[in-house]
Order: sequence, then C-alpha cells, then structure tokens
Amino acid sequence: MSIDFEIPAEAKAIRAKVRQWVHDECIPAEKRLVDKESFKTVLAELRTKARAAGLWLPFIPKEYGGMGLGPLANALVQMELGESHLGALSMNSQGPDDATMLTLLAHGTEFQKEKYLKPLLNGDKRVCYSMTEKAAGADATGMQTRAVKDGNENYILNGEKWFSSAASAADMAVVMAMTDPDAPRHQRYSTFIVELPNPGYIIKRDIGTMAKEGPLSHIMGGGHSEIEIKDLVIPAENLLGGEGQGFNMGQHRLAYGRLRHGMHNVAMAQRALDMAAAHVTQRETFGKKLSERQGVQWMLADCASELYMARLMLLHIAYKAERGMDLRQENSIAKVFLAHMVHKVVDTAIQLHGALGYSTDTPLAAWYTHIRSQRLVDGPDEVHRWTVGRNVIKAYERDGTTAAAAGGDLL
Ligand SMILES: Cc1cc2nc3c(=O)[nH]c(=O)nc-3n(C[C@H](O)[C@H](O)[C@H](O)COP(=O)(O)OP(=O)(O)OC[C@H]3O[C@@H](n4cnc5c(N)ncnc54)[C@H](O)[C@@H]3O)c2cc1C
Repeated sequence: MSIDFEIPAEAKAIRAKVRQWVHDECIPAEKRLVDKESFKTVLAELRTKARAAGLWLPFIPKEYGGMGLGPLANALVQMELGESHLGALSMNSQGPDDATMLTLLAHGTEFQKEKYLKPLLNGDKRVCYSMTEKAAGADATGMQTRAVKDGNENYILNGEKWFSSAASAADMAVVMAMTDPDAPRHQRYSTFIVELPNPGYIIKRDIGTMAKEGPLSHIMGGGHSEIEIKDLVIPAENLLGGEGQGFNMGQHRLAYGRLRHGMHNVAMAQRALDMAAAHVTQRETFGKKLSERQGVQWMLADCASELYMARLMLLHIAYKAERGMDLRQENSIAKVFLAHMVHKVVDTAIQLHGALGYSTDTPLAAWYTHIRSQRLVDGPDEVHRWTVGRNVIKAYERDGTTAAAAGGDLL
C-alpha cells in the first residue's frame, strides 16, 4: 500500500491554528507559572480561551465535545502541541488522561460515561492509570494485585502499584487487578475505576526520579506515585469492559499513548534544533562562527535527518490509521525511534550550547532528563525490538523476504 503525501487543506489549517495557539498563548503563559495558584489560574484562562477558539479534545468525536479529528489531523496537531508543556494541557489533550478517555469511550457503560468520562472531557477532573507494579512492568501479565468479588455489590482489591503518573493530581484512577488467577495469562486481569482520594488507594509517596522537577511538576501531573492498595472497595458497576478484559484494554490504551509521546517529541526536537541553530549562528570560537565549521554542520545535519525520518514515520502511521490498516509493526518501530531521536537532538543542542546547555538557563537540561524515561515507558526498547525482530523473521519465513516487516509495503 503506497502512501499519499497530500495533507488535506482542512488538516493544514488546523495545524496552523494550533501552531499559532502554542506560540501566541502557551509559550508566553509558561513564564507566568510560579506556584499552585498561578498554575490553576493560567491553565483555567488558557482552557477557556482554547475552548472558545474551538481547540479542545482534538482526538474526541464531535458528539462528545471534541474536535473529531482523524488520526492524520490529530497527529499534525500533537506534533505542534509538544512545543510547550502547556500545549496539550491547554486543549485537554494531556497524557495519561487522553488514552483513558478513549478507553472509557470505547468500553465504558452509559453509567461510566456519564459519571466518569463527562468530567474528564469537560476538563473538570484528571485520571491516572495504575498498571505497573514493583512485581511486574514490561511483562504486565505478572501483576499480583488481586480483586476478589464480595457478593454482587463490590470488589475488594489488595496489592501495590508503582509509577502511576499523575496520581497525586488525579481525581480518579484506573486500576488493573487479577480477577481470575486460573484463566489464561492474558485473561486474568480486569480494570476498575476508582474515585480518589480513597482510603483503600494509599499514595505512599511521589517517587524521586532523574527528571528535573520544578515546584509545579507534581501539581501539573508530572509526578509518579508508589501506591498501596489495601482493602480497596470498588462497586461492581465500576468494573470497566468486563472481567478478564483488563489486559486487552491496557494494550489498546498504550497503543495511542506510544504515538502521542512520539508526536510531542517532534515538536520538542524541532525547538531544540532551532535553539542550536540560533546559538551556533551567533557564537564564535577560534575566530569563526560555530555555524561555519563543517563538524558543527554535520551535527546539525544528523539531527535534521532524524527529525525528517520521525516526521515521515508518523505521517505513514497516520496514513495507515486513517484507513484502519494494521500498524503494529510501524508503531513499535516508531516508538523506539522517536524516543532515541529526541534524545539525540536535545543532546546535540546541549553539546553545541556548551556549559549554557548544561545549565538551567535554557530548558534543554530539563528536557534531557525528562525524555530519558521514554525508552522505558509504554514498553521498553528491548520489548518493542523483540516484537519487531520476530515480525522480521515471520515475514522472511512467509514471503522469502523481510520487506513486509520493514516498510516494504510503501513501494
Ligand atoms: C516516567 C515513567 C512514567 C510511568 N508511568 C506509568 C503509569 O502512568 N502507569 C503505569 O502503570 N506504569 C507507568 N510506568 C511504568 C512503565 O510502564 C514500566 O517502567 C515499564 O513497563 C517497564 O517495566 P519495569 O520498569 O518494571 O521494567 P522491567 O519489566 O523490570 O524490565 C527492566 C528492563 O529489562 C529489559 N527487558 C525487559 N523485558 C525484556 C525482554 N523481553 N527482552 C529483553 N530485555 C527485556 C528492558 O531493558 C527493561 O527496561 C512509568 C514509568 C516511568 C519511568
């Protein structure tokens, strides 16, 4: 299946509008954030303006109050939003909430949509996702948290969770727990909606990480919590998607999240490369501008190549998604590539800024420590490369060539 590079005029117009929104409103607003109160005020103001301008929930259907964008237009929008850390938040498009909204939309009952999805869509509440445990991460089928039915009314959960992003900022959690230890591995787990705060969902701490944290990180949902789950009572009506469906739904939500991170990376890498170019065109060493040195031009060229590949990958994946085609292989390839791409570009920008890049006078140092996690979250590099490699072998055994697993359907 070939790829059509024509971007519809409507999608181009939305991208331009979002780019302007990020530049005119979000980036200037970043400077106004100094404490919890200013964050609340600035975000509320931004969101009111965004909604009035029709910039709200880009990936959610219009009948649910969103912009109803398809995968291509949404990808173009997300590739702009990543330029500011207020971008996605301003349009209620931030992770991890976005993927859970999609899960509730696809699998929620009418009751769950009314009670839990509506306030999320409205931007009144936030939600976190508790799957990973100290006991199990990359292989989520090793989770130990148990859910036991107590009569017909409730489930009682006991166990632990680890690295639940935004738990401290969330008003509800989506928690995975084992309902049937005797079922096949992928059918043992179910998903529950938990209202927070809750005496059975104990946030023990926000885990310290290598990411540089500001006073607002946790308020904005940037923290990652360790949680004890102790005699957590959940009404049966809060079971999401039916017993045994937790794992399938988890994979469904992660698939979107993986791509969204990568899309935001394009914007961040672009901003880093722009900063690098701005710096080398004015900084002189040994009697010459840095930009006149071939070695520096090679460094910029490598970054430009990576960004170009990243954009093409995302456009191809969006193209496939528009047509409902299987994109699992491309998704895994891009997930790994985009995490390395942004790391390389930001690292290069730091290098070219010298000590200034290492300082906190530019955002580069914060970005650098923040993006390292992307090689771990939503499936570590090795697990995706394992899947991709298996598909390469399968394609060879089936077709006598590996082309189908390596973008060969483009030709
Ligand atoms: C910043 C951040 C945010 C997160 N947010 C959330 C969240 O909101 N909700 C949530 O539920 N979880 C979250 N996580 C957890 C994340 O999903 C897990 O860290 C990830 O799945 C890896 O699991 P693990 O850390 O237990 O590593 P492990 O499973 O212990 O794996 C350790 C390492 O072993 C290697 N490895 C594993 N399997 C294989 C294999 N088959 N072949 C070769 N090598 C392998 C990889 O290098 C891997 O990094 C977050 C993590 C981070 C860092």
